[in-house]
Parts: sequence; C-alpha cells; structure tokens
Amino acid sequence: SKCDIDLGSSKMLTYDEALQQVLQTVQRMPVEKVELERILGRILAESIRAEFDLPRFNNSAVDGFGVLISDVAQASTDKPIKLNLVGTIHAGDRADGPALKSGETVKILTGATVPPSVEAVIMREYCVEESGIVAFATNAETGENVRRKGDEVKQGEEVLPAGIEASPPVVGLIASFGHAKFPVYQQPRVAVVVTGDELVKPGGALEDGQIFESNSFALAAAVKALGLPDCRTIHARDDREATEQAFLLALDDQQADVIISAGGVSVGEHDYVKVVLEQDIGVTSVFWKIAIKPGKPVFFGFIDRPDREGGKPRRRIIFGLPGNPVSALVTFNLFVKPALMAMQGALDGPKSGWFGSLERDMKKKPGRLDFVRGILSCSPEGALNVLPTRGQDSHMLSGLAKADCLIQFPADDERLSQGQCVRLERLDWHS
Ligand code: AMP
Ligand code: MG
Repeated sequence: SKCDIDLGSSKMLTYDEALQQVLQTVQRMPVEKVELERILGRILAESIRAEFDLPRFNNSAVDGFGVLISDVAQASTDKPIKLNLVGTIHAGDRADGPALKSGETVKILTGATVPPSVEAVIMREYCVEESGIVAFATNAETGENVRRKGDEVKQGEEVLPAGIEASPPVVGLIASFGHAKFPVYQQPRVAVVVTGDELVKPGGALEDGQIFESNSFALAAAVKALGLPDCRTIHARDDREATEQAFLLALDDQQADVIISAGGVSVGEHDYVKVVLEQDIGVTSVFWKIAIKPGKPVFFGFIDRPDREGGKPRRRIIFGLPGNPVSALVTFNLFVKPALMAMQGALDGPKSGWFGSLERDMKKKPGRLDFVRGILSCSPEGALNVLPTRGQDSHMLSGLAKADCLIQFPADDERLSQGQCVRLERLDWHS
C-alpha cells in the first residue's frame, strides 16, 4: 500500500483521557495521625465533626455589663439609667451565682459565660462605672453581644469534609474541638531522575556542547511547593545500564512512591527511559504520548513492588516527562500535581475552569492541544484578559517563569483571534 507510515498521532491520547488514566491508576496513601504542630498543608483523611456545640456555652462578645432589657429600655445619653453592680464574670469563670434581678447589672468580660438570666450585654464604652453603680447611656436588644451556644455548629454536624487541606483556620478548628492529633493521608515519597550526557551540575564548569542541569532543581522545587518533603534527585547518563540503575535506586533505596524522570523519553537514539522502564524494570505502561504541546512524549506507568526489605507490594507510579525544561514543568503541572494530590486523598478542586479574552491573534498547526503560557490581567470593567508571554518555545523557561496561566489552544483549531474567549488553567505551583 502507498501510505502505511504511522506517525503515531492516531494512538495519542487527549489531555482529558490521559489525566483520567493517571487518576484511575494512582492509589491512596495510608492514613496516619499527625500532631497539630505538624499538620499544616496535610490532607484530612476524616471529616471534621462537631464534638460539641460551637460555641459550647452562651458567652459575651464584648467587655460590658449584663442587663435585663426592660431595665435599660429608657436609657439614653441625656438620661442615663443607673443599676447596681452585683458581680463580675471573667472568661473561664463558672457563672453559677444568683439570677440577675431588676435593678441589677453584672460585669461580663469577653468570652465569659453569660448566665441564663442575663438578656443582653451592653458594651462598656456606653457605660460609666462608679462605686458600685453603673450608668447606661443606651438601651439593648435581646441577645445583643451574646454569642449563643451552637450558633456556629451543632454537636454531631459535619463542619468540613475529608479531603481538604489543613490550612491555618482548619488547624484552628481541629484544635477548637480538642484534638491534639488528626488523621491525614501520608505524603508520597518522590524521587527525581534526570537523564542526559550534556548536563553539568550548577556550580561546575561547562565545556562546549554542555549545559547546566536545571530540571532536577525545578522539579524538586515543584514537589516542595506542594508541601511535600524534600525529594532525592539522581542523574543518569544516556546509557541503558545507568538509566536502569537510576530507576532501581529510586524504587528500592529511596523507596519512592512516585518517580518523576525528565528527558530521554522521546524517539532519540539515546532515549532509554521507556525501554528501561518497560523491559528492564517491568513497569506496566499506561500511556506514552499525548496530543498536547508542550509535552507530547510523556510516559506514564506503574509497578506494584515491595521495598527492598520486603513487605507488601506498594503501587509506585512513574512519570517519564520530556527533557525540555518548559515541557517538564508544564506536564508536571498538568499530570504529576493532580496525581500527587489524589494520592493524598485531596478532593478535586472546582474543574469549571477559567475563561479570558485573548489579547492578540495566535496561530498553530492543528492536531495537538497547545498550552500557551499567558499572563492574566483584569480590566477596570471586570473582564479577565490574557496575553501570551514572549518565548513560547519549550526550551524557554523565562516564558514560563513570567506566566500565571496556561491558555488552551484547542487541538483542532489553527487560529485564535484577539478578543476571543479562551479557556485557561491557572498556573498555580501550590497545592
Ligand atoms: P531530551 O528529552 O532528553 O531529548 O531533552 C530535550 C532537551 O532538553 C534537550 O535540549 C536537553 O539538553 C534538554 N534537557 C534535558 N534534560 C535537561 C535537564 N535536566 N536540565 C536542562 N535541560 C535538559
Ligand atoms: Mg536527553
């Protein structure tokens, strides 16, 4: 036949298909209980339930004086009303004194119990206290300045679902129910493998044809930005044996749950990553090649393997990202980050996407979904505009460094015009 050449495009997955396959392959990490002091940024493995009503008892929102409404009904700046001060309730006191009677007031400080007989608390700014008498320059409404038991949440209610991140207020909420520890998902151990004979560690000296190795630093930083522990990095020469050793080190010595490699995964003569993973190590391939740009030759697979000391096999996942620095980081953002978050049980963020108005014309060849690096801005009218950055090639890290979003240039389209509404992904390096 005339034209049997398979250019590979027919087998390429779409972005959505590839992401689905990643999310279906990963497994949740085990659960551990972590002290509040170390829980920031971790993903909760259980919902937060109200152990008791919040607030737990009626208490005062201000420093002031407890009154009966009818006693102060006629009070004003011109004609203050005087009541006898019969006691003080500080925060932390039990409020088990006699009920407040007409003509009496009790001093109540912020957070102190408001006894059932007190109908409102008047801020001390509206009162003058002198030798056992308090003059009120204002009246009050029932319940004023009283934080009522259970008005935030009732005992037994779900306050927040599992799968959310322990942000500072979440940490505070857990503490306010009295937990010293809370169950969270363990964090995956990540190893980074970089390949290439041309690569020299920063700090060294370059010879002709060599470049400084940047991917291991960028990818390790991307892992760290998600709040994960420092990851180990390994550099392999472009050699089948060395590449195999690098992956075995990551799997067995470092016991990585996730391996991210960069480079050596395309169709070059010295691209050993795929063959080593599949044939020498026994990784099950889920996909290789996605109809996206940058990042077409992404490899993704898994292997269920015990640690070197034995034990139960654990699912390890392996991403073979392309070596071009922009491709490596963009595909990290598109696939590795969602995988790392799903392994930690994170709820999916809102997938509705963002849309903006394109600030200049663009063109490309049809076939692949292009993730164009862009800069967002908001007009005074409230419209979101997006400008592609200069330096769109996949070796131009500066273009990515300036960007705060990825503009989706759909696979089948060849042109986008200025003013057109485009779909965006925010480029957020944090979890
Ligand atoms: P590869 O995917 O191995 O063919 O590499 C694609 C391009 O990325 C080449 O220009 C490499 O020199 C470059 N590259 C690969 N790995 C790295 C790295 N770790 N740091 C910087 N550049 C890299
Ligand atoms: Mg290479």
